[in-house]
Amino acid sequence: EECRYTPEDDEWPSDAEWAFFNETLGGVLLKPQPLAISCYAGPSYDTARCASLQTNWRSMAQHNPNSVCTQGGFPVYVVNAMTVRHVQMAVNFARNKNLRLVIKNSGHNYNGNNIGGNALSVWVYNLKGLTYYDNYQASDYTGRAVALAGGTTATEVNAASRTYSMTILNAGGPDVTIPGGYFQGAGHSTYANFYGLAADHVLQISAVTADGIFVVADARANSDLFWAFRGGGGGTLTGNFGVLTSIVVRTFPVTPVASSSISWSTISQPGTPGVSNESFWAGIREYLSFSTSLCDNKGFGYNFLRHTSSSGANGLTFTSSLSLPNRTAAELRAFIRSFLERLNDVRIPISTTAMLTLDFPNMPSSPQISRRALGDTVGNTLIASRLFQRSNYASASSIRAAHRNPFHRQRRRLRRPRPSHESHARQHRKPRQCNHTRFPNSNHAYASV
Ligand SMILES: Cc1cc2nc3c(=O)[nH]c(=O)nc-3n(C[C@H](O)[C@H](O)[C@H](O)COP(=O)(O)OP(=O)(O)OC[C@H]3O[C@@H](n4cnc5c(N)ncnc54)[C@H](O)[C@@H]3O)c2cc1C
Repeated sequence: EECRYTPEDDEWPSDAEWAFFNETLGGVLLKPQPLAISCYAGPSYDTARCASLQTNWRSMAQHNPNSVCTQGGFPVYVVNAMTVRHVQMAVNFARNKNLRLVIKNSGHNYNGNNIGGNALSVWVYNLKGLTYYDNYQASDYTGRAVALAGGTTATEVNAASRTYSMTILNAGGPDVTIPGGYFQGAGHSTYANFYGLAADHVLQISAVTADGIFVVADARANSDLFWAFRGGGGGTLTGNFGVLTSIVVRTFPVTPVASSSISWSTISQPGTPGVSNESFWAGIREYLSFSTSLCDNKGFGYNFLRHTSSSGANGLTFTSSLSLPNRTAAELRAFIRSFLERLNDVRIPISTTAMLTLDFPNMPSSPQISRRALGDTVGNTLIASRLFQRSNYASASSIRAAHRNPFHRQRRRLRRPRPSHESHARQHRKPRQCNHTRFPNSNHAYASV
């Protein structure tokens, strides 16, 4: 029972059943093909299209035109859900036919949790709609709020912020969907230390559960589901609770944010000499010890440490965007002065320090959906999260210990010889009855719902 049927199984729905399912859905069932199919021998081979893919898709060169193009980790069918009823029908069809079901929204999940081989996908990105409430009543809140349909993006939320003159906790990525993986994974923003995480300000959720039932949950009704959805993580824990179709979130008065941008690099740029390796890492240590006062001042830092190459030279670059909500640029400048002085003490001349004050931070400039967001997943990257405790920042040595490369310890553990009784038990373990293929880029072994 734990195995889902795949197209290889006799029990997989017939073409006629899929056609009937599409008819009952009103024609929103899609049958996606791999993007690269035009480069593979078969009916879809297309020289011109393939040449264009090869020009525009950097990693295309590694595909072998003589091999077989398969669906890989992508779903076999997709319900392009535009109504709650479409979601219910997808969930019911998958359950009744014992199919693996995956949920996709904008497709921004870094690890490809929104896809799944041999699956039926319910794509909720086109569940659109935004309703403004002047005086929303919840058990512990009365005031301004907005209801966001399941596929509402950061761009759409920002447009509403402007229309109704309010601040909504929102993602920096323009196409990230706010009721999708963003709030379900807690949802950070420039206001995270000022107002809290996005999941803290959700007042109500609506979802279709695995039995196909549409439920509304808040602090009073279905409160366990309400609790589970807020921070469980889209497609991991939360995906097992249901398909979210809308949320109601509280809003805040327009809250300006003062932001600065600082960077230093071991690579020289025109007019800016690179810093030494010693200075580079001394600067990182200065930043880490400064970051507690950033938190104490309810600020936020977005930082990137990247490998950089320029004119044949390789090096490292650190960029940091420091923000303080509800402060002026002058106040921010005064706040970071001591940090800049400490950087100069370790021989880091600041190349750019731009001060801005924005009424609507995180404002995505482009309303376009990136091509990657629609069908692709972020390649060559696996992202992990770490939460650090305040005590990790108590001293220079605790900062060093907290940020030490975790793989050092793991490698040591891997080298430890296995006790003989343990390897004996492993050899004689009963084989798994259900041998599901695990696809790269997909963490789902079975249906998400
Ligand atoms: C460019 C970029 C910028 C980002 N900026 C921020 C940021 O500022 N703050 C922040 O906190 N995060 C940010 N993120 C991370 C982002 O919030 C996560 O990647 C999130 O998982 C994306 O959710 P999604 O619904 O848009 O994408 P998807 O990949 O479609 O979905 C993510 C996961 O949630 C599940 N899911 C989606 N919709 C539903 C639903 N309706 N019901 C049940 N499960 C669902 C999917 O199955 C999948 O596992 C950013 C990511 C990118 C790529």
